[in-house]
Amino acid sequence: MSNQAPVLPKSLPGAAIIGEAALAASDGATLETVNPATGRRLGLLPACDVADVDKAVAAARATFEAGHWRNLAPRARGRMLLKLADAMEAHAEELAVLETLDSGKPISDTRAIDLPLTITSLRYYGETVDKIYGEVGPGGHGKLSYAVHDPLGVIGAIVPWNFPLLMAMWKIAPAIAMGNSMVLKPSELTSLSILRVAELALEVGIPAGVLNVITGYGHTAGAALALHNDVDMITFTGSGPVGRQLMRYSADSNLKRVSLELGGKSPHIVLADAPDLDAAAEAAAWGIFYNQGQVCTAGSRLLVQREIHDDFVARVIKVAETIVPGDPLDPATRLGAVVSEKQMQSVLTRIARAQQDGAGLRLGGAQVRKDSGGYFLSPTVFDTVSNDSALAREEVFGPVLAVIPFDTPDDALRLANDTDYGLASGVWTGNVNTAHRFARDLRAGMVWVNGWDACDVTMPFGGFKQSGFGRDRSLHALYKYADLKSVTISFS
Ligand code: NAD
Repeated sequence: MSNQAPVLPKSLPGAAIIGEAALAASDGATLETVNPATGRRLGLLPACDVADVDKAVAAARATFEAGHWRNLAPRARGRMLLKLADAMEAHAEELAVLETLDSGKPISDTRAIDLPLTITSLRYYGETVDKIYGEVGPGGHGKLSYAVHDPLGVIGAIVPWNFPLLMAMWKIAPAIAMGNSMVLKPSELTSLSILRVAELALEVGIPAGVLNVITGYGHTAGAALALHNDVDMITFTGSGPVGRQLMRYSADSNLKRVSLELGGKSPHIVLADAPDLDAAAEAAAWGIFYNQGQVCTAGSRLLVQREIHDDFVARVIKVAETIVPGDPLDPATRLGAVVSEKQMQSVLTRIARAQQDGAGLRLGGAQVRKDSGGYFLSPTVFDTVSNDSALAREEVFGPVLAVIPFDTPDDALRLANDTDYGLASGVWTGNVNTAHRFARDLRAGMVWVNGWDACDVTMPFGGFKQSGFGRDRSLHALYKYADLKSVTISFS
């Protein structure tokens, strides 16, 4: 995509998509969506609640039972996904602008990362769904036993605001590819882009009711969806406390399946034998500051071997100083606004706490660009952080790096694994034996060696420990949205 100044849309999506209708909330309630770069209102959206969730689930159920989506040949469903991907590509600039306005992400990122990754994810599932096989069992004479992957039915998806389109598509694409219908609730902070995608889905001919999008708050619309007795699964990306709540909702309703992609406190380890300290410093800085630090896999704990510590931290700071917050709509901007005033205040509170706890503030630590009315934070680096401190243990979800020195590779492994989380992890080393040892011993769903955030839709994405369970991306995500059915036919 271009370096042109973005063209602002004449109108914004403003209705929930239920079946083929664009609807307001039944009781007329609305919520305000705000541009984080200016603090000003972008528009009003329906604040859906129980009655609207009932309507959306009924629409999804009706389509599922009618069978005209789930009984389509997988290849035909796949073709519809590919058509939607083409439509998204044709509207990529419009979607990138919506994403930037709503989330505060730089347009350079939404153009070059969010939209291409989202479209690639959709294409991947469009292309793979006709390559999913069942199994034939040993059976025996006069018996044919086979197992098939049956769609689950109605999937409820609840997603966060940090990658509004991408997190949604990691769920929508595999779920509907497998023949399910879906009701998706985006974050109340960032609903615009996925509403537009739901409109495009109808335009390309994906049957009404396959993809319903309800806007609204978590404690109302989200809870109603997760408590609904006609929803077969909740697939979630978001915070740990809400993940726990969703498991309670499941237990209190119909024991729907629950898949959780939660937070992280990912260790990024740099050993003294790292092959390229400049590359590692670049990765360490962008590993925390990319997307304003609002990344579940952010390398928020930087573990540096003591003998290179001073030199390496200086290199990281040199990179960080070049990462300057700016207007997200300016194509030259690489660091935008954090998503909301509440999120900014939460990050500032954690920065203040880290200082009280004795961490050494080396860079940043404050709100910047206040005149804009928006929520901008400077890249922040704390050095000599204790792994027992709140800064090292709790997710900040902002541009705040905690540097933790260590002496030996064993110390690094112990510190890296001493966390409640287990989402991502990484190590820089020039020793192949060390690389394999860390890959084996790091307790995390993803390990990156000599790189950070080496993400691809072909590989599973998800966490160990309190980072959740279930996987997005890869073929594993398709199976997540299906039940296994065993069939035995007896004959003579
Ligand atoms: P959040 O948990 O506050 O909200 C996520 C979604 O849950 C939103 O749509 C929200 O409206 C909804 N929600 C809130 N309360 C609810 C309730 N009681 N019932 C049902 N739904 C409810 O998270 P967030 O602040 O939007 O996102 C940040 C979090 O997401 C971080 O913890 C981050 O690590 C995590 N995250 C994880 C991944 C991953 O793949 N592991 C990816 C991105 C973000």
